[in-house]
Amino acid sequence: MILITGGAGYIGSHCVINFLRANDEIVIFDNLENGHIETVNKLKTLGKVHFIQGDLKNKSDIENVFKEYKIDCVIHFAGYIEVAQSVEDPSKYYKNNVLGTINLLDVMVENNVKKIVFSSTCAIYGEPQYTPIDENHPKNPINPYGKTKYIIEQILDDYDKAYGLKSIKLRYFNVAGADSEIRTGEWHEPETHLIPNILKSIFDKNRIFKIYGTDYSTPDGTCIRDYVNVEDLTEAHRLAYLYLLKNNKSDCFNLGTEKGSSVKEVFDTVKALTNKEIQVQYEQRRAGDAAVLLANSYKAKELLGWNCKHSLKDSIKTAYLWEKSKNI
Ligand code: UDP
Repeated sequence: MILITGGAGYIGSHCVINFLRANDEIVIFDNLENGHIETVNKLKTLGKVHFIQGDLKNKSDIENVFKEYKIDCVIHFAGYIEVAQSVEDPSKYYKNNVLGTINLLDVMVENNVKKIVFSSTCAIYGEPQYTPIDENHPKNPINPYGKTKYIIEQILDDYDKAYGLKSIKLRYFNVAGADSEIRTGEWHEPETHLIPNILKSIFDKNRIFKIYGTDYSTPDGTCIRDYVNVEDLTEAHRLAYLYLLKNNKSDCFNLGTEKGSSVKEVFDTVKALTNKEIQVQYEQRRAGDAAVLLANSYKAKELLGWNCKHSLKDSIKTAYLWEKSKNI
């Protein structure tokens, strides 16, 4: 049985769907602070899915899961993800992300569960010293969010040395799109991410889409990011899990498409695909944004056999249909 923490959230819920395809039995553990009960109820209709509402900050909550279910491996998504919020309230981030994960890892070790796939981020690299960024790029996170993820990666390595806990750290670049059958999708409140923010301006005419910064040293002046499709991303989790089963060895992988798109290019693609007028406003740079973040994912391709099957257009199409489904 697979435990998926944060399985009621954006990437976690897509991961549940991916693992259900292999007929795995899943336990979702989520405090529903940012995850949604509607998502859990949908997932329950798709296969063998159990749900425990609990908080990793309470060790007893996670202990109860291991008492009730025979867990073989953990896929760990639960955590706060907003950069700006982490700068304003770092205490919240360190307690939730770091202490919560320590509780989870301790309970795993106590129950002799020694395999975990961890949701990490390219934010651990900080301001790029070169692009595309490979796994050996120096780690210099520039905000508390990225620091929590980097601290956890180091804790995982120490737990491997001391207790034999094997981990795969997956460092995501920008995740985009929705389930191809529109059963789940990106659902953050408030929304801060680029593609859903553009789409929301289509459905809410009072909402003006803002482009943060047009004076970056990029061809059109807006930031360049590497948008990886959420279904491709969850497939990497499946492959990482299989890799752990086969090799019983810790490792880390970047997950991106190795193709960059600027904010303006993404905006133009959304307009072209939806054929909608979207109000746009140019704003100052947003604090903490690097000009270019682009992945080198060679290692994931070589060792995990991972491939991106979906384009940015595919991601925008499913994200649009998901947003539309929420506005009916
Ligand atoms: N962005 C923007 N308007 C928005 C949201 C994001 O111009 O409403 C820009 C943001 O400044 C960054 C890029 O889009 O350059 C991707 O931002 P997002 O928050 O989606 O992901 P991040 O790269 O911060 O993880």
